Amino acid sequence: MNKGNKLYEGKAKIIYETKDKNLVIQHFKDDATAFNNLKKAKVEGKGVLNNRISEYILTNLSQCGIKTHFIKRLNMREQLIKKAEIFPIEFIVRNVATGSLTKRLDIPEGTVLERPLLEYCYKKDELEDPIVSKEHIYSFGWATEKDIKEIDIITLRINDILTGIFRGIGIKLIDFKIEYGKAWNKEINKNEIVLADEISPDTCRLWDMKTEKKLDKDRFRKDLGNVIQAYQEVARRLRIMPEETNISEVNFGKATSIKFKKK
Ligand code: 5GP
Repeated sequence: MNKGNKLYEGKAKIIYETKDKNLVIQHFKDDATAFNNLKKAKVEGKGVLNNRISEYILTNLSQCGIKTHFIKRLNMREQLIKKAEIFPIEFIVRNVATGSLTKRLDIPEGTVLERPLLEYCYKKDELEDPIVSKEHIYSFGWATEKDIKEIDIITLRINDILTGIFRGIGIKLIDFKIEYGKAWNKEINKNEIVLADEISPDTCRLWDMKTEKKLDKDRFRKDLGNVIQAYQEVARRLRIMPEETNISEVNFGKATSIKFKKK
């Protein structure tokens, strides 16, 4: 699939058009940002790992009946996805209180929530992605009541599936952020809601079950060090990366392939 013009460049990814108007290429960069772009760095190999981890997770979700934008991984950094019109909302699910929730409402860090907590944030960098209510979403036409009803159900199913996947590899899924869009389904000749963007250690909080060691982007946000090693650990535990591969030793300038395991 040939890459066409750049359609959009975000903080961690670039979207390119293809010859097919309904398909685009999603390219994973090594750039890491936090605190609304105030903190920036390159984490060599992050894009490669997120591409592979997100492929694995979205494929598993799709096997459980969740509709996603993912079609196939093209190479180390790129995947072919359905072009989707993204809702300007970040859907956040929390199982354990940490991060902005503890600050905003003074909830003790690590409180296990009785049931998953769903939050909505308006995707607007200039406003630092503020938390909003469903009423805001409906009032300003960011999504309809019908859309949100459907998305809430899918989001809670995703939380159940992801919790199980990570529990199976000794990791607690603390919280995560997902995005949805509307994409064309040529089989039914209609637009439908699909899970979009990515699911990776950039977008989830993942704590080792026994030690509570952070295996996610908080290592970057909080200067905990060993960022890439943590992402690599997640890939290893998911058994999509052979034990012997050390991604920090791979030359990404020249390399065109790393041997990832096929499941
Ligand atoms: P918090 O609101 O506590 O900062 O984040 C909650 C969860 O959503 C965390 O897993 C965090 O990684 C994810 N999240 C929230 N906003 C963003 C964002 O703008 N980008 C990314 N990559 N993840 C986010």
